Amino acid sequence: MSGSGRTVRGSDGRTYLDFYSGIAVNLLGYDVPEVREAVERQLRTGVVHTSTFYLIASQVELAERIARLSGIDDAVVFFTCSGTEAVETALLLATEHRRSGRVVALRHSYHGRSFGALAVTGDHRWHGAGRTPLRVELVPDVPPQDGPGEVADEHQVAHGVSELTRVLDSEPDRPVAALIAEPVQGVAGAVPLADGQLAAYARAVRSHGALLICDEVQTGWGRTGRWWGHQWDDDVRPDLLVFAKGLAGGLTLGGVVGRREVMNCLPMPSISTFGGNQLSTTAALATLDVIEDRDLPARAHTAGHLLRGLLETGLAGVGGVRRVQGRGLLLAVAFQDPATAAAVQEECRTRGLLVGLGGSAGNCVRVMPPLTVTDDEVRRGAETLVAAAQAADRLERTS
Ligand code: PMP
Repeated sequence: MSGSGRTVRGSDGRTYLDFYSGIAVNLLGYDVPEVREAVERQLRTGVVHTSTFYLIASQVELAERIARLSGIDDAVVFFTCSGTEAVETALLLATEHRRSGRVVALRHSYHGRSFGALAVTGDHRWHGAGRTPLRVELVPDVPPQDGPGEVADEHQVAHGVSELTRVLDSEPDRPVAALIAEPVQGVAGAVPLADGQLAAYARAVRSHGALLICDEVQTGWGRTGRWWGHQWDDDVRPDLLVFAKGLAGGLTLGGVVGRREVMNCLPMPSISTFGGNQLSTTAALATLDVIEDRDLPARAHTAGHLLRGLLETGLAGVGGVRRVQGRGLLLAVAFQDPATAAAVQEECRTRGLLVGLGGSAGNCVRVMPPLTVTDDEVRRGAETLVAAAQAADRLERTS
């Protein structure tokens, strides 16, 4: 298998245009010279890893850079190996800081597959396990996938705030530690919270002294058209921001950036052996250079706008399509039926386009190309997806 730009050649010898990016990881695409050369330089030093027991220069540099990018005053960073481990870290810190195991999460959320991350995963498709280390209460977020709109309307937001406030007001001797929220719910099918919704939830949380954890594992590093997904709302100031996915150009790296007193609240020593080693942090610094130099958040905004417009126009009138949803280059096409979504995804693959499958109802084709995608590739990808949906519709009608 090999890859270059937005194209991968599979072990089947065929080439594919990649609009899934290894589940939103390959922000820059494949074989990016700046990242490859940085990783090769690091490998030539002979040091891949020494652990965080001794200071790692590239880790310190990366932490300082992420602290600045986070917009959080006097921020501190902790590195992990995955999104799940980063979510787990945020939950550990928030519950310790507030001395309470009560956490509020959103109904269609996905936060990972460890004991704690799964506990705050509201999406019923993923929340299979019955036992949990936390007391989790779920509050409304977006309308169900088969509802009328892509995002919550004014009344639904107001209802969500009042449900959240009811939870925050209950049991004063066992306060809520935190609300954890994705600004755009990726696994649920790229469903954004409504304008002002996260800000309204954040105000309710803050007025009760609880913390706001923004899970930016899918929405971070520019994918939604801004550096962070929460920046689509004014005045959202996360206490803890969770990141992972595309930071290190495909190498494993996640982490939490947050307010110093929360980040430093653990009474015991705490370490992630692999978290932020030389190789992954060097790759991350090179990746951030490219994102900043090419202003890829802005590119995600314009390319996302083009892609969404082409999909909306092309899919209008195609049977079985509900809508196109998402933000920037975190997009999905929602179908009436999960079987149609699966058929379209497979038809896309046959036609040389990689897309994903997801959605709370399993009915979404997920579309998240690298942020470096060209206009030409956007057009090609959109044409292929539309043709695949038309083919699936024809098949549906004749069967
Ligand atoms: N949070 C969100 C919002 C995610 O989308 C994911 C992964 N899809 C995770 C956490 C977990 O990340 P990982 O798979 O790297 O553990």
